[in-house]
Amino acid sequence: MQIQTLSPQNYIFRPPNSFFSPQKPASLSSTFQFTKLQGSQRKGSSRLQTGSRRYRGLVRPIGVSCEMMQVNGFDDGFYIRKCVELARKAIGRTSPNPMVGCLIVKDGKIVGEGFHPKAGQPHAEVFALRDAGDLAENATAYVSLEPCNHYGRTPPCTEALIKAKVKRVVVGMVDPNPIVASKGVARLRSAGIDVTVGVEEELCKRLNEAWIHQMLTGKPFVTLRYTLSVNGHFSDMLGEGVTESGGYYSQLLQEYDAIVHSASLTKEFPFLTSREPGANQPLQIIIASTSCSPIQLPGLTEERASKTIIFTDQETTVEPKTSQKGIKTVVLDTLSLTPILEDCKSRGLCSVLLDLRGNLTDLEELIREAVEQNVLRKIVIEVLPQWDESETRNLLMSLNTEVKRLEVKNLQTKVSGKSIVLEGYL
Ligand SMILES: [Zn+2]
Repeated sequence: MQIQTLSPQNYIFRPPNSFFSPQKPASLSSTFQFTKLQGSQRKGSSRLQTGSRRYRGLVRPIGVSCEMMQVNGFDDGFYIRKCVELARKAIGRTSPNPMVGCLIVKDGKIVGEGFHPKAGQPHAEVFALRDAGDLAENATAYVSLEPCNHYGRTPPCTEALIKAKVKRVVVGMVDPNPIVASKGVARLRSAGIDVTVGVEEELCKRLNEAWIHQMLTGKPFVTLRYTLSVNGHFSDMLGEGVTESGGYYSQLLQEYDAIVHSASLTKEFPFLTSREPGANQPLQIIIASTSCSPIQLPGLTEERASKTIIFTDQETTVEPKTSQKGIKTVVLDTLSLTPILEDCKSRGLCSVLLDLRGNLTDLEELIREAVEQNVLRKIVIEVLPQWDESETRNLLMSLNTEVKRLEVKNLQTKVSGKSIVLEGYL
């Protein structure tokens, strides 16, 4: 085995699964890795335009005991995890398509890589095969989602892989769409290609949890977010650092297709903005009850106005008047979540974040409906490092819903800035 000497400051030690799948303990049979800090982790070096980037140097594991390593270098799980990292470069940009990453590996070396950058653009496999060129012949293709086998806006990736004469294909997860599931795998096998399915499957599912939910149910994936003080009071505040690049709130805005919040927030925050480099900003859905007119939207640009919708239960006006241009306003008899989600669906949006801040009465009916109709799929709770006696609101406790108990699954914690963030699934 070739051993490459690496300078420690350029590498981070990361046990398998620890980054994307912390609930899954590292298996002793898995390979521990040193991951080189790539260009993707440097600000402003995104290659979204091409969806492809030459991998600079294979990083080999060093300094770990032999029983932790595979004899022949990295295992399939390692490359699929790399595919997921690649796929995430397009976070927030692929709806209504999934995020997908692909690697072409030959003789233990990555010779091609690619990801799906945006709906309408070629798929990950196309970029990776293009990157590998002739080296794809007899190579192994790793792809986080089953290659497509149908003609859409682009030709099927199965045909591209067959044409490139890859020897083996490793698939993270099969397509969740029951109409096309496993057809890509079957096509590859019929062409004599060795196919392995279900490597790092949970990780791959989590990567596209919103898209999978939308695919299986026809409805957007809905997440509720709120902030609590340590003594359990709701807060309008966000913690120090969480809205900056790398902060959980900034990342949520990048990740979700739409954010729903109260009109009372807009005077202070006319447009909630992700600070991630090159982030695609979510559609902003403002909920305005009768008490909110006029809605204050200072400094809203025309571009941002085109990504703003107001849902209200009476005719409302926007201040300043110039901000009104380009904003769609929907007047409902009663503020309700269903028509809002229908609107999101009609726009091809897969994920919606309900941000519980500001005037909570604007959102009360929406939350009640979401809980009673079991619409919420995920909750994100920020706990601020402060005791707050200024407010005594607790909307969720006052909600008179029929639901007695909801189990939260896979509850996890992480630190963002000075806050603790809880995430769980319903
Ligand atoms: Zn494809």
